[in-house]
Amino acid sequence: MVIGLILFVVKVVLVVLEAKLYTKQQRYNMMWMEMATAATKMSHCVRRQVGCVIVKDGKVISTGWNGTPKGFDNCCEHTDTGETLPYTIHAEANALDKLARFGGIGCENAEAYITTQPCLACAIRLANSGVKSVYYRESYRDQIGSQFLENAGIPVFKI
Ligand SMILES: [Zn+2]
Repeated sequence: MVIGLILFVVKVVLVVLEAKLYTKQQRYNMMWMEMATAATKMSHCVRRQVGCVIVKDGKVISTGWNGTPKGFDNCCEHTDTGETLPYTIHAEANALDKLARFGGIGCENAEAYITTQPCLACAIRLANSGVKSVYYRESYRDQIGSQFLENAGIPVFKI
C-alpha cells in the first residue's frame, strides 16, 4: 500500500517534470515518433524495420512500415542471399500509398515522422506530396535524402 503510494507520487513527479522539460510541440513530436516506432512492429523485414506516421493539423492521417506490395509474400529479403528484395516498399512510400489508395485529405503541409532517415526516393515522394517537414530518429547510410529535402526547402530534424 505504501509502496504503491510512493510509486504513484514518483510517477506524478516524473509526469510534471516531463511537462516542464519539454514544450508541447516536443511532446507531440515524441508521441508521433513513438507511434512510428510502434508501426515498425508490423514490418516483416528482417534487416531493418521502419515505421512512418504522417501527421496533418495535429492528426495522424496515415501510417506505414516497410514491407512488400499487396498480394506478395510478406518477406522483404531474398531467402538465399538475405538481400532486400527490389520491390520492397519503404515505410514512407507505404504511408503515402495508403493515402493514394484509400483517399483522405492529402499531404499538403503535413509532417512525416519516420524511424529512419528517408532515402532519396522517399524524400522525393515526401516533397512532391506536399510534406512540409520531416522528423526521423535513426540515421540512414547516406544523407542524400535529407540533403534533397533541405534543398527543396523542407526542414529535416533528427529527434
Ligand atoms: Zn526510402
